Amino acid sequence: NPTPLLLRNFTDIHQSSDGTSSHAQAPDTVPNSDGLIRIMQWNLLAQGLCQTSDGFILCPDEALDWEFRQHHILEEFLTYQASVYCLQEVDHFDYLKANLSPLGFDGVFYPKPDSPCLYEVNNSGPDGCAIFWDNSQLRLMSQDSFILCRQNGQKTNQVAISCRFQVISSGPDKGREFVCATTHLKAKKHHAELRTQQGQDLERQLRQKAGDLPLVLCGDFNADPDETVVKGMKKSNLNLLSSYTLLSTSGDEPSFTTWKVRGGKKGQEEAAHTIDYLFYSKDKFQCIRVLKMPHPDQLRPNFLPSYAYPSDHLSLVADLKLIV
Ligand code: NDP
Ligand code: CA
Repeated sequence: NPTPLLLRNFTDIHQSSDGTSSHAQAPDTVPNSDGLIRIMQWNLLAQGLCQTSDGFILCPDEALDWEFRQHHILEEFLTYQASVYCLQEVDHFDYLKANLSPLGFDGVFYPKPDSPCLYEVNNSGPDGCAIFWDNSQLRLMSQDSFILCRQNGQKTNQVAISCRFQVISSGPDKGREFVCATTHLKAKKHHAELRTQQGQDLERQLRQKAGDLPLVLCGDFNADPDETVVKGMKKSNLNLLSSYTLLSTSGDEPSFTTWKVRGGKKGQEEAAHTIDYLFYSKDKFQCIRVLKMPHPDQLRPNFLPSYAYPSDHLSLVADLKLIV
């Protein structure tokens, strides 16, 4: 693969006691060496969808081939060296597991009940959520995978995974436990009401599973920051803060976590917005640094996915420290 992977820098977060934040450029490459809990949130783009129904007309076919994409997907993992990878649209779990196991990672996968990938020719199986964790840093204490329900208890086609971890490596958090969960909510603008109900179910389930433990919740919520499900998650008594709001002095989310151009009935449709989030318990974790979003010029002219980046969603990475 001759095109280098899109690379980004970390930014240190300095939070003052009044809750405001400022940041400074961190060194270009920050290995995860200071014992912090590094979380990556990433919708890595299902192979089963990207060459057909997704309609990414600006991306060359070759860059959408699994043979091409798989290397950049692994390179993204290895470049940022997370403790926990929270993933959506995974339809190559066995490949990821085979490549991450030798590096000391273990993983769990939970497919969607009726994955749209299964309706595509030459699909690679159903897509779903997955969590991988670094066995040298974290011990899995328990794991729960579940289908999100509507208010009336009816099952939907969206899922979530929640893992309880104990920190086993030496460092500031040794011996402590936390819960890390991930989800991928129903897509498309007009399904906001369904997403709201899925968010309420998720909140209820995580309150039960996490109890008083610190919680990280990552996902592709398929919802802009002003949508009910996102505002609800921020106001919920899970007491969560969205890590990427720390990048701006205004406390706003970034202007995009995905940027793609699709061919549709109405011609080209460009979608640049924030729909991916990395939340954490704001009274139990401190966010030390986050991986910055690229400058838009780094994505031009063809946006995502591309030869330089294997997904239409950017990864979100945050270094978290448990508050003593
Ligand atoms: P969702 O509606 O949640 O979305 C599925 C995928 O479509 C997501 O990964 C999403 O990506 C992507 N997506 C979002 N916007 C667009 C867009 N404008 N154009 C193309 N793709 C987009 O899927 P569900 O899990 O609810 O599954 C859909 C249902 O449809 C299934 O239950 C299945 O039975 C049915 N189906 C039936 C088919 C058939 O042939 N009978 C064919 C396909 C699906 P992102 O999250 O990144 O935005
Ligand atoms: Ca998608």
